[in-house]
Amino acid sequence: MRDNVPNRGAFAMLAYRDVLVHTWFAAICRWLLMNNHSPLSNLHGFPMLFAVSTRPRFVSFALIGWLCLAAAHAAEVELSPPVSKTEAASGEPTAVKALLICGGCCHDYQNQKEIISEGLSKSVGPIDWTIIQYAGEREVHADVYQSKDWIKGFDLVVHNECFGGVTDPDFVKGIVAAHVENQIPAMVIHCSMHSYRNSSAADTWRNFLGVTSVRHEKSKQSMLVEPTAAGKSHPVLASLGGENWETVNGELYIINQVWPGATVLATAFSNETNKAEPVIWTNQVEGTRVFGTTIGHHNETMLDPKYQSILADGWKWAMKQE
Ligand SMILES: [Zn+2]
Repeated sequence: MRDNVPNRGAFAMLAYRDVLVHTWFAAICRWLLMNNHSPLSNLHGFPMLFAVSTRPRFVSFALIGWLCLAAAHAAEVELSPPVSKTEAASGEPTAVKALLICGGCCHDYQNQKEIISEGLSKSVGPIDWTIIQYAGEREVHADVYQSKDWIKGFDLVVHNECFGGVTDPDFVKGIVAAHVENQIPAMVIHCSMHSYRNSSAADTWRNFLGVTSVRHEKSKQSMLVEPTAAGKSHPVLASLGGENWETVNGELYIINQVWPGATVLATAFSNETNKAEPVIWTNQVEGTRVFGTTIGHHNETMLDPKYQSILADGWKWAMKQE
């Protein structure tokens, strides 16, 4: 967009040229007048103005005024900001480009892709979505990841995938490498935490996610989400105001390990393990931001305004907009 707009250097050159032209023109006129060479000096009606020898003070004032006008004009040109015509015409912020990858086993990705993308667009502003949904099997090697440059052009990637049967270690490492090498933030939701869990590169994926999990509670039920001390003051959980949140329904993931870059923001108590299981967190991997939540099995829970707010604030944190 800026290619059509002169830069500040060009404005400075223009100003300098203006002063030079005005100054030379003024000097030549003054020389002509002082030496009585002006063809205008004898014209009827103009002698008062151009009879320099009899009115030197008047001409000096005129010249100073002329130079002042030239300088003011030059200053005005120089200080004009380089406004992009495109921005001025639309007045709209540029849409962020996001990729949403979903599919695999066990969930209603057909509707979840809409719930996630529409909710985020409504909350965080214009998003140019690319949504890829794969078949409902856990062994799907998502072809989007096959290209080395698959992540280029996106500002953020949402992983809501359930590919627990994929084991190819190079394939798994490639997904993480694309994020980290290009510093593209991620949001990882629910079954993404169980994807690639049987791969020898599973820990590379888990270090990226921020947690290790290989199973969930047997029963599905409402869960009480409790902010941790870190979560109470964290922008990602601002919508909870430090209070607990009882979800409509839920499938609680059992967390075996929290990785060093992760900060747990909320937990839910498991009656199976008799301990508080992390359910919302942030993670940082070599400077790449990852927002994660294991909440997201049931559409009705994802449609809860509190879940939508947490997703939106997770997006803002991942994008460093908090
Ligand atoms: Zn689930």
